[in-house]
Amino acid sequence: MTTVDEHLESVLAAIEPVPEVEVPLHEALGLVLTRDVTSDVDLPRFANSAMDGYAVRAAELAGVDAEHPRSVPVLGDIPAGSTARHTHREGSVWRILTGAPVPEGADAVVRVEDTDGRPREVLISRAPEVGDNIRPAGEDVRAGDVILRRGTRVGAPQIAVLAAAGVAEVAVTGPVRVVVLSTGDELVPAGQPVGPGQINDSNGPMLAALVRSAGAEVVHTGHLPDDEKVIKKTLDHHLRQADAVITSGGVSKGGSYDAVKAVLTGSGSMEFTEVGMQPGKPQGFGLLGKRRVPVFTLPGNPVSVLVSFEVFLRPALARLGGRTHTPVTVPAVVARGWSSPEGRQQYHRVRLSRDASGQYAAEPVGGPGSHLVGGLALADGLAVVPAEVTDVATGSAVPVLPLRPLEEIEADLVSSADEDRSDRSDGEAG
Ligand code: AMP
Ligand code: MG
Repeated sequence: MTTVDEHLESVLAAIEPVPEVEVPLHEALGLVLTRDVTSDVDLPRFANSAMDGYAVRAAELAGVDAEHPRSVPVLGDIPAGSTARHTHREGSVWRILTGAPVPEGADAVVRVEDTDGRPREVLISRAPEVGDNIRPAGEDVRAGDVILRRGTRVGAPQIAVLAAAGVAEVAVTGPVRVVVLSTGDELVPAGQPVGPGQINDSNGPMLAALVRSAGAEVVHTGHLPDDEKVIKKTLDHHLRQADAVITSGGVSKGGSYDAVKAVLTGSGSMEFTEVGMQPGKPQGFGLLGKRRVPVFTLPGNPVSVLVSFEVFLRPALARLGGRTHTPVTVPAVVARGWSSPEGRQQYHRVRLSRDASGQYAAEPVGGPGSHLVGGLALADGLAVVPAEVTDVATGSAVPVLPLRPLEEIEADLVSSADEDRSDRSDGEAG
């Protein structure tokens, strides 16, 4: 049997980032820059005031303080956005607002708080140092500087510096466009009547959500019958457009109802592999069609789908997007032990709480079956049990792969601790 790491390695080795595209800033969030970006301009673009106050020449106010204030004429106002050119005149000052260009010849700004704030003639009660309250041109970024390196993932702060430098479009590894296909004669999309022997498709909506959570785009979700002709035709169609295709169902033993496996066996570089993991053993992966599109065929059970996604697809989609995904687990103490199959790395759904010592405690949730979506929805994470471990003992340490952002889990733990406290004090009052 192939190990999880071996399978992941062979998947990652087979795929490369999707082609570069130019996108406007508002579409760049989460994408990875393919080129260094340099600024054509200084930031700040011009010397401007950091405060509302009066633009002065520091030397002219030497000796001024609260005991020896000086009254000086005000030449006028310079608001932010002022396009007129202003020049300092000896013995006078300009009133200036935050962000407004400092007049030529002025070298400091006296804060309005250090004056009586009047508009025509102002009483100044503090002598500034040269440079006080002035934001010099280029103090942050110099024209010609690289502001962002290729390989940077664009987040909100990166969008801010690009916008500030007047960059409207950037070259990035394109958004990864993913097609999600659920297979099975028994499936009915949510919202439609479910007949005898039928079930709602839960993998499709879950995979679509997972793909989005991984920063990729879902361009199509569909569900297909266990019909080889239909599956082949639909796949061929999507292979012309998609950057990746994810199917679920129809791959278990290659029996007559395992239509996905039947259609794809021998196609492209497709390989069906038994991976030493639980759940998620039957994994199919290959590059298909002229465009050599990565196709992932996942097993049908919802828990297997989720685990397969976290273990193989999240890293694979990151790679397609020009990134590296390194899963981060948190250490936890097993609150109630369970068993694990010999020779398979187990991903066990757990709920996290805080034990007396402040560490995470992991408790199994939702029963062992891979079909149990109700329990799945209660899990905070997947406890990762190495292949050689068969008995996960109460009190032992286990790494947990969170299924939702840690800050969300933390917030829930804090609010449930608060509820416990108020329950206790209610009890005391009664
Ligand atoms: P299969 O691998 O096609 O034999 O499916 C294994 C199990 O997963 C069966 O119980 C299927 O009904 C169930 N299953 C397959 N696809 C889905 C889906 N999209 N949503 C919910 N359950 C599914
Ligand atoms: Mg099926």
